[in-house]
Amino acid sequence: MKRKRVVVLGATGSIGESALKVARDIPERIEIVGLAANTNAEKLARAANEVRPEAVCLVDESKIEILQKALDYQPRIFAGEVGLREIACLTNTEMVLVAIVGTAGLRPALAAIETGKDLAVASKEILVMAGEIVMREARDNNVHVLPVDSEHNAIFQCLDGRLSEIRRIILTASGGPFRAIAAKDFADLTPEQALKHPTWNMGPKITIDSATLFNKGLEMIEAHWLFGVEMKQVEVVIHPQSIVHSLVEFTDGSTLAQLSYSDMCFPIQYATTWPERVPNRLPPLDFSRLSKLEFEVPRFEDFPALNLARRAGETAGTLPAVMNAANEVAVAAFLDRQIRFPQIWQTVEAVMEAHTSVAHPNLDTILQADQWAREEGTRFVKALHR
Ligand code: NDP
Repeated sequence: MKRKRVVVLGATGSIGESALKVARDIPERIEIVGLAANTNAEKLARAANEVRPEAVCLVDESKIEILQKALDYQPRIFAGEVGLREIACLTNTEMVLVAIVGTAGLRPALAAIETGKDLAVASKEILVMAGEIVMREARDNNVHVLPVDSEHNAIFQCLDGRLSEIRRIILTASGGPFRAIAAKDFADLTPEQALKHPTWNMGPKITIDSATLFNKGLEMIEAHWLFGVEMKQVEVVIHPQSIVHSLVEFTDGSTLAQLSYSDMCFPIQYATTWPERVPNRLPPLDFSRLSKLEFEVPRFEDFPALNLARRAGETAGTLPAVMNAANEVAVAAFLDRQIRFPQIWQTVEAVMEAHTSVAHPNLDTILQADQWAREEGTRFVKALHR
């Protein structure tokens, strides 16, 4: 089997680092041909000097000189948002791993699809925002969209193509650091506490999303688009150990689950080597150390993100993009100590309430809704902060 040639967008992040680890572990199967980041020139250069891709891209053009100086060889260098789209379209690439936090990966992802590349998607935000368009473009261009998110990767593994036989998809959620905290104490929770995830080591945005359960809300909508199921077929169960990564209940009542330790190298490897399973050095489960696997119903009233996401997914149109953008603004404001933890939900709900969703939007309409929600969210945060 030949090596798969992969471009990694978001190479300096938590997923990017894990992707490089996977490539180091199975170099006979994965060749990194491009690496892209936003502003972290030094870290991008260190990664490039090690894996020696033929191209690198830095979105922040003011740091290009730093990047050039730190490189010990001469790859092609792309810059800016245009460069990000260009590196996603490199001619000798088979797959683009989109691991950019937020929505900046949407245009490069669509460009990659148009040039016939498979997508491995970690950036759930782009599927929440424009899942209808991304999946339609992928179908039209005959490319695969492979989920990297551990839950969707688990579902993808359990399904093994039997999409028409799904009764329910059950997403597992660790419950985050505040799973057992009483709602009356939420207002006092700090960013430092929210950034301490009990089972996963991830970037700051997704870690806060795990604490509010917006991460799971975004994943409900992501599952709806990836697997073509209705929102009412997507459920969430709290599973604090993060060993069962998600489950599929089939029409005959049988349920399949995927289990492994909580290390993103597992789903990244499966997405990049699919349809094959490739031996690696990742630790298999040690059942003598797993004393229990627990499952609980989420506290829907105390963590409103799940119901807000269900409403956004069922309404569809531009509402999911609005929810996602308002959440990004609220998370940034919480990390900046402008608002309190429960005000993240409050901000998102207020912006969603103020929005009139447009059905089956095109890309421009989605981007306008995203921009509107960011402005509306910023206004709301300022009013709360006053
Ligand atoms: P990080 O914050 O760790 O990394 C983000 C990456 O995106 C960095 O490489 C950053 O570059 C780059 N980036 C940020 N903004 C831009 C931009 N405007 N243009 C280009 N690149 C940009 O995030 P994570 O790795 O945690 O998450 C990435 C995505 O994967 C998110 O969508 C998240 O929801 C998803 N995901 C993450 C998981 C995890 O375990 N971390 C699990 C499942 C999904 P720079 O360093 O230069 O700023």
